[in-house]
Amino acid sequence: QTIGDNFDATVASFGDRGALVDVAQGKRWTYAELQSDVDRLARALLAAGVAKGDRVGIWAPNRSEWVLVQYATAKIGAILVNINPAYRAHELKYVLKQAGISYLFAVSEFRTSNYARMVQGVRHDCHDLMDAIYFETPEWDALLAQADDVTPQALADVQSGLDSNDPINIQYTSGTTGFPKGATLSHRNILNNGFFVGETCRYTEQDRVCIPVPFYHCFGMVMGNLACTSHGACMVIPAPAFDPAATLQATQDEKITSLYGVPTMFIAEWGLPNFADYDMSSVRTGIMAGSPCPAELMKKLIAAGIEQMTICYGMTETSPVSTQNRTDDTFEQKVGTVGRVMPHLEIKIVDPVTGETQPRGSSGEFMTKGYSVMLGYWEQPDKTAEAIEDGWMHTGDIGVMDDAGYVQISGRIKDMVIRGGENIYPREIEEFLYTHPDIVDAQVIGVPDEKYGEELCAWIRLRQGAEPITSESLKQFCSGQLAHYKIPRYVELVDEFPMTVTGKVRKVEMRETTAAKLG
Ligand code: ATP
Ligand code: MG
Repeated sequence: QTIGDNFDATVASFGDRGALVDVAQGKRWTYAELQSDVDRLARALLAAGVAKGDRVGIWAPNRSEWVLVQYATAKIGAILVNINPAYRAHELKYVLKQAGISYLFAVSEFRTSNYARMVQGVRHDCHDLMDAIYFETPEWDALLAQADDVTPQALADVQSGLDSNDPINIQYTSGTTGFPKGATLSHRNILNNGFFVGETCRYTEQDRVCIPVPFYHCFGMVMGNLACTSHGACMVIPAPAFDPAATLQATQDEKITSLYGVPTMFIAEWGLPNFADYDMSSVRTGIMAGSPCPAELMKKLIAAGIEQMTICYGMTETSPVSTQNRTDDTFEQKVGTVGRVMPHLEIKIVDPVTGETQPRGSSGEFMTKGYSVMLGYWEQPDKTAEAIEDGWMHTGDIGVMDDAGYVQISGRIKDMVIRGGENIYPREIEEFLYTHPDIVDAQVIGVPDEKYGEELCAWIRLRQGAEPITSESLKQFCSGQLAHYKIPRYVELVDEFPMTVTGKVRKVEMRETTAAKLG
């Protein structure tokens, strides 16, 4: 099945159910209404000459037009390229050229500001780029008006000529460990993943899912949109960019049953001074992903009644989810593990040096195989060959799997610290630091050291009004609790961490900052 066929099947079953709510724009669609708008845009794109395999870029924060473009391109087989709205001239040019984008959608704010000049500026370097269409402008209306030139039958013919193994989406990785890479994904890759994520959350047409995570990343467009549309659930967009108060307000007003976020988003929401004023009683489940869930945070979610919260682990290159907690997993399973492998996928654990498969229970690098593994990095065959071996995707993540199949991630190969020959996974130390009453958030990194090779440094965000923590007081707090070599030698008190746009801490940058400071 292609994404378009799956969408049409949902409309046939649940046409009168709510499909999409754009809170900021005050707009809502039933499935039948959404299909009518999606088909209209798909016909307009065909009329404008966009064909199967052409790359269509979308450079916009979360809004309903994003969803229309996602499904309209899927219906005609054009490859949607997600572009981060935070990108500026240099990055935009890279993506436009790298992916060979011929058609670009963007929000109207980008037309009236420096952005439009940026697009004009990069245009003569990007030979493929024909048009930039800004939502809700005369160009957008003119494009939609062309829909009448293509019959519904002509669209149906194009749709039935597509294959589920065709590429349909290029998504750039978060860039946590280096420059973002464009993962090329097929209908089969992302539609199946969205479907099984929805199955694990037990979605039905009764569910209403609040999606504050970006659509330009797989968390939003696959685990959000595709999980909803493959089960007839309703997608709710609380705001264009993440806003903790808007998210809670939408959760209350829209009677949300499933709430999404990366850990830092939940921390921000639960940290609002008036958190208790919001009625969260409709929320049953949700997904937290992208980075480890601190135990303290999970306790708060459960206290708020979200007992069926799940954790997902995965990466852009695997569409993205490889493991997920079941809704009825225990507290320990949800904070200690990232759940079990998803249906129809395989995971193995290999020695990162020798590549040998490790027995159950021993630590090593995860590799994933199955329908979810990307087609490859767009036009980067060398990188693809390094990443995928015999169908097995290298994740770069280290961890173990227990006898019952629960997976524990201890960190990234690139974040592991080797101090005096001891392998240290910062995650373990961070978990311990969270138990300090004055510490709101902590990140531990390795910095170069003459004697030990590397030393640990803790970047700490303190509760407002707390006494500063020094390396001495931190040592006292940790001693007797952590092995001596795991106690951070340096402390940096900060107001915030350098983050990727997907809400991940950029340890690469932190290491550079601290190393420079230590000289
Ligand atoms: P890049 O590949 O560009 O360096 P990235 O790996 O952060 O960036 P993504 O594909 O967005 O880009 O993220 C996938 C990674 O996120 C995984 O490889 C893993 O390290 C981390 N991750 C995802 N989910 C979890 C989780 N639940 N717990 C811990 N880490 C997670
Ligand atoms: Mg990665």
